[in-house]
Amino acid sequence: MTVPFLDIQAMHSEVRGDLDAAWHEVTRTGSFVGGPLVDRFEEEWARYCSARFAVGVANGTDALGLTLEALGIGPGDEVIVPANTFIATAAAVSRVGATPVFVDVSPDTLLITADHVRAAITPRTAAVMVVHLYGQPADLTEIGAVAGSAGIAVIEDAAQAHGARWQGQRVGAIGNAGCFSFYPGKNLGALGDGGAVVTNDEDLARRVRSLGNHGRGSSKYLHEAAGTNSRLDALQAGLLSAKLGRLDAWNDGRRRAAESYRARLEDVPVRLLAVDPRAESVHHLHVVQSPYRDQLLEALNEAKVGCGIHYPVPCHLQEAFGDVGTARLPVCEGAAGELLSLPMWPQITDQEIDEVTAQIRSALDQIREVPADA
Ligand SMILES: *Cc1c(COP(=O)(O)O)cnc(C)c1O
Repeated sequence: MTVPFLDIQAMHSEVRGDLDAAWHEVTRTGSFVGGPLVDRFEEEWARYCSARFAVGVANGTDALGLTLEALGIGPGDEVIVPANTFIATAAAVSRVGATPVFVDVSPDTLLITADHVRAAITPRTAAVMVVHLYGQPADLTEIGAVAGSAGIAVIEDAAQAHGARWQGQRVGAIGNAGCFSFYPGKNLGALGDGGAVVTNDEDLARRVRSLGNHGRGSSKYLHEAAGTNSRLDALQAGLLSAKLGRLDAWNDGRRRAAESYRARLEDVPVRLLAVDPRAESVHHLHVVQSPYRDQLLEALNEAKVGCGIHYPVPCHLQEAFGDVGTARLPVCEGAAGELLSLPMWPQITDQEIDEVTAQIRSALDQIREVPADA
């Protein structure tokens, strides 16, 4: 039985009619960049996130970069970043001329914690990137308290956490701003690139919107800043609206799948992520850890089970950040060799999960029959 890593079409087949209607609506309105469909999606997304404002942008990477820039962060500033994240979190910091300061993560959740933030704060620290990795919310309460007393901004990288809740509240606008990606494979994905910044700070929302729209203020031909072009297409906004109504049900489906995995892997020697009772994950990725990761990956590939590694090289060891001069980050470095992301999407069936877990079991049985030095 073949099990893909992700089946986006399983989601789209539930909303095919609405996706087609969105396309027709765009051709009818004749607004392709900005316009009523973008306004509508921004309102819907803000409401969904319990945020006052949402600003559509071209992708999640720009959401991060424009937020940093709108907060006035640039050369001479330091921004704390967990090293276990997608490269874009850190690259956004470098792109505005600031310095990413990489920190380690909790061995239980693989997320940044308040202790990591506290230990990395210097007089130059301007912000912390709180990455809700794999769909799990990080501890925004304690990190918020540390950031508040240090006077630094909290930027949530929520690109993997659409709809996740921390202590009952949706992530995104708990910190100063939250950055979302609508890349097709995310929990809420466009049919192309897209992103958004959510915030309760009206001035910050206005600056992000201006910077992403050529630095325009209220006039088309007057530019208050040397901005860039990073806007959400009307087509993508319409498609996102068509999918948004299903997001909670899809996240429920991911939760059910995560429970199925948990039950079936109980007696299998792979480590699962810890669950913080204050966090409601949306299970963007289902990550397990094993010292036999490479053999497992090979066996699963051979059995036609799709898997991934998120991420095999932590940011501080990437060539791109070779000049930052980070000390050893033992948790990130250890995890990088053991992480394995299993197939996960809302409609994955228990039979498919049975197949994945059966393949893991038999691969581990074989690996352990052969002594390590054979
Ligand atoms: C996907 C992702 C991004 C970047 O989003 P794009 O839309 O691909 O630019 C940033 N951070 C994290 C954690 C992501 O998973």
